[in-house]
Formats: sequence, structure tokens, C-alpha cells
Amino acid sequence: MARYVKDFSEGDKDQKDLLGGKGANLAEMTRLGLPVPPGFTITTEACRAYMRTGEVPPELRVEVTMAVRHLEDQLGRRLGDFHDPLLVSVRSGAKFSMPGMMETVLNVGLNDASVQGLAELSGDERFAWDSYRRLIQMFGRTVLDIDGDLFSEALDKAKAARGVTADVDLDADDLRTLVGTYKQIVREQSGREFPQHPREQLDMAIVAVFDSWGTERARLYRRKERIPDDLGTAVNVCSMVFGNLGPTSGTGVAFTRDPASGRTGEFGDYLVNAQGEDVVAGIRNTLSLADLEEVDPAAHAELLQAMRRLETHYRDLCDIEFTIERGKLWMLQTRVGKRTAPAAFRIACQLVDEHLITMDEALSRVTGAQLSQLQFPQFAPVDDDSDRVLLTRGMAASPGAAVGMAVFDPATAAQWAADGKDVILVRRETNPDDLGGMIAAVGVLTARGGKTSHAAVVARGMGRTCVVGAEELVIDSEARTMTARGHTVHEGDVIAIDGTSGDVVLGDVPVVPSPVQRYLEDGLDVALAEAPDDETRELVRAVDRILRHADASRRLHVHANADTAEDAARARHLGAQGIGLCRTEHMFLGERRVLVERVVLADDDTERQAALDALLPLQRQDFTDILAAMDGLPTTIRLIDPPLHEFLPDLTDLSVKVALQAERGEVDEHDVTLLAAVRRMHEANPMLGLRGVRLGLVIPGLFDLQIRAVAEAVAARLAAGGDPHAEIMVPLVGSVQELRLVRERAVAIMAEVSAEQGVTVDLPVGCMIELPRAALTADRIAAQAQFFSFGTNDLTQTTWGFSRDDVEGAFFAQYTANGVLSVSPFETLDVKGVGQLVQIAVERGRATRPDLTLGVCGEHGGDPESIRFFDAVGLDYVSCSPFRVPIARLEAGRAAI
Ligand code: PEP
Ligand code: MG
Repeated sequence: MARYVKDFSEGDKDQKDLLGGKGANLAEMTRLGLPVPPGFTITTEACRAYMRTGEVPPELRVEVTMAVRHLEDQLGRRLGDFHDPLLVSVRSGAKFSMPGMMETVLNVGLNDASVQGLAELSGDERFAWDSYRRLIQMFGRTVLDIDGDLFSEALDKAKAARGVTADVDLDADDLRTLVGTYKQIVREQSGREFPQHPREQLDMAIVAVFDSWGTERARLYRRKERIPDDLGTAVNVCSMVFGNLGPTSGTGVAFTRDPASGRTGEFGDYLVNAQGEDVVAGIRNTLSLADLEEVDPAAHAELLQAMRRLETHYRDLCDIEFTIERGKLWMLQTRVGKRTAPAAFRIACQLVDEHLITMDEALSRVTGAQLSQLQFPQFAPVDDDSDRVLLTRGMAASPGAAVGMAVFDPATAAQWAADGKDVILVRRETNPDDLGGMIAAVGVLTARGGKTSHAAVVARGMGRTCVVGAEELVIDSEARTMTARGHTVHEGDVIAIDGTSGDVVLGDVPVVPSPVQRYLEDGLDVALAEAPDDETRELVRAVDRILRHADASRRLHVHANADTAEDAARARHLGAQGIGLCRTEHMFLGERRVLVERVVLADDDTERQAALDALLPLQRQDFTDILAAMDGLPTTIRLIDPPLHEFLPDLTDLSVKVALQAERGEVDEHDVTLLAAVRRMHEANPMLGLRGVRLGLVIPGLFDLQIRAVAEAVAARLAAGGDPHAEIMVPLVGSVQELRLVRERAVAIMAEVSAEQGVTVDLPVGCMIELPRAALTADRIAAQAQFFSFGTNDLTQTTWGFSRDDVEGAFFAQYTANGVLSVSPFETLDVKGVGQLVQIAVERGRATRPDLTLGVCGEHGGDPESIRFFDAVGLDYVSCSPFRVPIARLEAGRAAI
């Protein structure tokens, strides 16, 4: 039984692991009886054996011999034969398509003798010599690693010597001479002769394909596409058929439907008298399939029949490569075709309507990533990019396309926006004080920070276009300019940022709004009424159908992270079934900051209480508004979390201020006292310092104030006839004792408020699980918690010991380049590590309290891959930014089917 080689007639489409995508589909077409040139596939297992040992397994040599002889017998031709030579192509074919990444060698089997045989067989000497020179060129470049330019230059010289410009104008003699030149290039560059023995050519080409799996560009591509490095590639050895044997031959590509729009019909390009690469290279104008019907009706009819069979068989859009050799159709490749995001939704629904697939299958064929692409406005496409000046490229942090005037501080952003101008807030990095400016801006651009930096998280939360970490940018906030690549942008100059690619462009770029987002926010009728054409209407309907099916199928609930009534309402529109995380720290910024400063720095209880009393009605209103927007739905309000220093003046700024005062002899006692307090409370590592529950237990009255505000807001909503479902969540709990203390206060305060207001306020109290210790002691914590919500941002930070604010810009790029990470663990949950803690906490928590409600509210709650994991471990809900709610609905549906 052969281990490493399978004839095309032996496999099928489900063996992609072993045969690679191309090999599996060639086998499937062979099985269907379609005209595939005979051949065989060397399996990925052979490649893996080669990668392990650096040697071709000896059994492979034997199996290749058997397969070649079988092929020769089947076709009645021999490799390297004088008169009637068999030629083969050698092509890579991994499980996941890696277009253009790996090697192909055509015409293997030609040498000084068999080129004569090919001339005889084809009756075309020019063709034979052209095939031979192509072999030496491809072989030299890919197998012998010779600079391809040397061959192209020799070809150009040959054309110049003949005074012609096109390859086809070289005759047989020119090409024979060129073959001599090419062989000389091989000799000089590789120190060896071009191998004349066909089997040596074949063996070397196979090894070159194996080796091409490990090239730098292939590795990079895999990292980007998250394809594992250890899969290896298969090698397809296929008997050659020729599309360049004169006017009755040709080669082409075809799609069973339009991959852009999804429409059924005949789509494809055909090139008469040409070989594979010529079509892609765009050397000559191609014909349409309709034109092919005129040229060769029989081959055209056969092709259409094959296309229909393939589409029926795969029940999906297929793309096909074919060749016609002197009127005979050959199918060279097929695969389920790649498609744009709009086409994916349309095609899925079309196939349902044609009764080819079920709604479950339609749901499985679209992804959250595709839906997310459809949600954003986009830059209008340009035919020629040259007049767009790319200023720089940063990290794509929050998608969309934004055009506006550059401004360099949040106050100007807010002011200009109030004047009706579109602005893009440009900062070295952002901090909570920039929030107002970020809200006012249409887009945010930073020079520093990664995808989970403050700017990125906040922008995503708001659905605001954002590019971060554009490190080339030199921002001078004093002069109000930024400079990169020799261009200087002044405040007020128009720039455009693309949050999907990270591009930062000078000047105005036209933007097209998203009809799908319109549908998600305002419903089907509005979106249909506004859609500019039928295709858009079809797309909107398709998204609606598939999302509704996802909603009906999913087990996971989808909540949103929202901290204003406005965001809450928006999230609800987008399908959120509750608020999974209402962060309260933003409620203490702006004008309220002084009050918080007073709470923190108060010398005595009276002073502190006065500040707390002033904050109470403000907080109560915040919560009342949010509960009104979320009437009837669970609303999880998290007590204040961030490190203390965020509420205090910056240590350096204040030190400078006080030093200057001292110099001028104008000392302000308040500033001096403040500086002393700020120094006292300064932390070297604030993210691991006095934040979350620790802050609540250390600063008297702070949590009490918030709990009271929530309880009073609930009472107010009840009094107004509402149906509030508030829950109180305690952040950064590491020990059950911390939670016990807060819970006891909460119970007491709720009892007080109930008595004062004459209603029963009895809210669930739970905590975030965002420290490894919390996960490991979840059995004990669950005794005090009615629910857990996994804060996977902090849990990732504390499990890996990566600072979520710094790490991505600093070294993640290198970590992904050298393969330590395939994706940022802050983006997609690290299932092996952090995921284990989640699972442990789920099991231990539920063991103590079987009805414990479990959710996740870290950024991962909106990440498609992570959602599958959360579904599998049995969480009740995921919570994500409002914008990602539809994506989470879709992915939760996909996870469930
Ligand atoms: C988390 O840590 O995952 C979380 C949701 O909290 P925050 O991002 O506010 O720290
Ligand atoms: Mg957290």
C-alpha cells in the first residue's frame, strides 16, 4: 500500500489534510469523470517526513517510480522519450491555498533529445523549443535558485537582436539559440549543467516544492493567515496538456457564478494559444466565455456542463482552471472559490433559494469577519492609487474610513466638531482625558500604542475609525503639526484614515456609507428604502435572513459593553440582550474629577462625605438613564476600576508647576499638599496596584456611593413604572474575602434604600474573574458571587504578564514575526493558557453554585474565534462593544450549528 503517493483516481475532496486542496479537488474531479489529465499527488506526509529529516524518504523514490510508470502506461508515452515524450507539471498544493507563495515547474521531462520528440509530436518546432526554454527558465529560478532577471534579460536581448518586442515573434531558431544561452546561465550560476535526465528533473522539482514551504515569504503568509507551520505541502505531478498548440488551443479560468456579485451565469476569461501563466500575466486581451462559444462551441458546451456538475457537486461557487488542447477540454484545477464579503452573503442565500443548501449551511458559509467588513463605510475604490499620497501606515485598530481636519488636542477637536467640522484627533497616544475629543472626532490617529491601547479600545467601543501605532509620525503638539515621509500636516489640513488597512492618506478621499450598518441600526425597511440598487437590496436581505437564522440557532446570549444611555440604546438596536459591562470610570472624569480628587485626598470624613454627597445625584442620574435605555434587560454595572493615579494630576506636571512656583516665590499651598499626596500615592506599576476592589476597600465611601446610586436609580425606575434589572459587579477580585466585604456593604445599602424608598431593591452581586487567583479559587468566590464575568483583558495581562497598554507596539510585531505568537492573545483568546483558567473557573464556580450566571466582557467577547470557545465551555453570554454585537450574534449562531 502506497504511503506517500496517491493516484488522482484514489482520493477525494475530503482528503485535503493529506492531498492538499489542489490534489484533493483534482481527485474529486477525476472521481466525477471530468476530463482531468492523469497524474498523482505526493502527500503532505511525505513533505513532513522530509521536513523532519531533511531527506527524501527512500520509500518516496520507489513510490514515485511506480506512479510515473503507471502514468506512462496509461498514456502510452515515456518521460524523456525521443519521439513521443511524456511531460509533467510539478505543482505545490497545501491544505489551505497560499496563492503565489510556492513553486511550480512546467514541462518537466524535456531535454535535448525529447525536445525533438515534442516537435515531432506537435508538428510545431517553435512550440517545442519555447516549451524547453520555459522549463529551463522556471527550473533555473525555482529549483536552482538562480536570479530570474538573468533569464528575462537574455530573452529581451534575443528579442532586441531580432528587432521584435513580443515573445511570440521569436522563431524556432531564435528559441533554440536562447535555450543555449539559458543553459549557459545555469552552468555559470549554479556550477552545474541543466539536468538532462527527466527523473533527476522530477526529483529536484519535488524537493524544490517541499523547500518552498519553508521560504520566508511562505512563512510570513502563513503567520498572517494563521496557517500552522507544520502542515507541509503536497506536490501534484500531472501530465502536461498544452493550450499553446495553435489556434484551436487555449487556456482559461472560469467561475460558476460571479465572485463579486454572486450572480449566476458564465464568468471567465479565455486566451487562445496560450499557457497558464499568460492568462494571469495579462499579456494579451482575453476572450469571454461567450466568445469561446463562437470559437469552439463543442469545448464550450463541455466546459459549461462540467461547471454545472461541479457547482452541483460542491453546492457552492467553484473556480476552475481549464485548458483546451486542439479542441479537447481538460480540467486543470477547481476549488470552492474565494469571494468578497457581500458575495458571500448573497451567494449563501441564493443557494438556499435554489434548494442546494440549508439555512444552517448558509450560516456556516459566512463569517463574523465578513459581516464586520460590511459594517464600515469604505473609501471609494480608485483605479489608480498614484494620486493618493500615503503619509504613513499604522495599525488598523478600529475599522472604517474617516476623512477630516487634523487636530492635535481634544479641546480643539470638540470645539471644531461643535462648529460642524469633521475632525480627526491626532495624538501621540490617548488617555482618558482625550475622551471628549474622541467622541467629537470622526476618527482617531495615534503614533504610539497597540490594538488594546486606550485609543483602540475606546474607539472600537464607539465604532469610531481608529489607526494606532503609526510610529513614523512625528507629532509636535506645540507647533500643531505632524510629519512623516517628508510631508508636514498642519492643524486644519485634511487627512483620511483607513481603520481597516491602517493607511493614513493626505487630503480628501471619497467615502461610501455602509447599507448593512444602516440595516443593523435602523431596520430592514429603512435600509431597503435607501439602498441605491437591487444588488444592495439583495445584500441587505441576505444579511437579515442569515442573522435571523443565527439568532434562532444560538445558545449564547449577546450583551454589550456600554457606559452611556446613548451607547446602551444603540447596542439594543443592534440586538444586544443586555449590558454585560457598564464601566463607571468615565463617569468620574471632566468636571467631576475635582470631586473625586477630593474624595481621595480628603483630610477628614466630613470633607470626603461632602464630595461624595455631591457625586451621588450625578451617578444616580447616570444609572437611571442607562436603566431606562435597557428597560427589561439585565444591566451589569461595574464599580470603579482604574488605578488611582488616573484621577490625580500627573506627577511630573505637578512637580514642574510647584518648582516653578517656588522659583517665582509664588507658592500655592494647595498645590504643595497635592504634590505630596500624589507622590505618596504614586505607583511604579499602577496596573497591578491600587485599582478595582482594592481601591474600593481602601478609599472609604467610594463603592458605597456607587452602590447607593445604583440602588436609588433602580428605585427611581421602579417608581416610574420601569422594569430595571441592574446587577452590581466588583472588579479585580483576587480573594473571596474582598468580595465578601463589598457584598456585605451592598446588602446593607440595598436594605437602607429599600426602607427609605418603600420598595424592595435586591440586586444580584457578582464579580469579574480577571486574575489567575480568582479563577483558581472560583469555588470559594462563587459562595459570595451570584455571577461571574470574565475580564479576559486583565486575565490575559495577568496570566501572561504582558502589559496590555505597552506590549503590542513594543515587541508583539517581533513575537509574531519569529513565531512565538501567531496572533495577539489580547485579540483572540489564548485558549491553551488563559482558556484553561476560564474553564477551571467555570467548573469550580458551578460546582459551588449550579445556577451561577457566567459571561465574558473582555475584548474577546466580540472576537469570532474566541466566541466558539466561550460557547464550548458553556458560558451564558458574551458581551462586546455595541458595534460588534451583530458579529457576536452571527458567530454565536455559527458556533451552535
Ligand atoms: C477586562 O479586564 O477584560 C475588562 C473587561 O475590564 P477592563 O478592560 O475595563 O479592565
Ligand atoms: Mg479589567
